Amino acid sequence: MAFTLPELPYDKAALEPHIDAMTMEIHHGRHHKAYVDNLNKALDGKPENNEDIEALMGKVSTLGAPVRNNGGGHYNHSLFWKLLSPNAGGQPVGALAEAITAAFGSFDEFKLQFANAGTTRFGSGWAWLIVQNGALKVCSTANQDNPLMDVAEEKGAPVLALDVWEHAYYLHYQNKRPDYIAAFWNVVNWEEANRNYEVATA
Ligand code: MN
Repeated sequence: MAFTLPELPYDKAALEPHIDAMTMEIHHGRHHKAYVDNLNKALDGKPENNEDIEALMGKVSTLGAPVRNNGGGHYNHSLFWKLLSPNAGGQPVGALAEAITAAFGSFDEFKLQFANAGTTRFGSGWAWLIVQNGALKVCSTANQDNPLMDVAEEKGAPVLALDVWEHAYYLHYQNKRPDYIAAFWNVVNWEEANRNYEVATA
């Protein structure tokens, strides 16, 4: 049973002007596809081939660098596409909004901390909002690592994720990662983030 590339849940141009169509096409159709193809190659013939991606993340230290890099890439991007949406952005409501205020003092303070995590991640990686021991926390990871991995410094269940690899923004924003992060807030699918939060705290 091979892993497959999920369809984007919207048109590749739907997130313009915040994330451009060419970036989405290359990011999804080439980068994410390569993670899926290389994950399948790395697991070919192994018993882990039949496990779900979350289970693999939890024992990734035993599976070698190709599974860590490509399995992480597949998990992270599958999560990320669903956390973006046209006609989105604004602020969360409901349980997640209350938890953000409780953890960070205000939504604006959360945004500052999350943006700072993405801006200060040196090289390639991801910024995260996670549930850790029942509480929200902001962190970042290098490369395609994520907080589900047994090797992660900060472990938890992802609620919100932001890809800060250059391939996520360079065509439109060049070296201006903070501009890309500022634009990201306009396309955050807070309904999806709320669902992730509900699952993480169930
Ligand atoms: Mn990416």
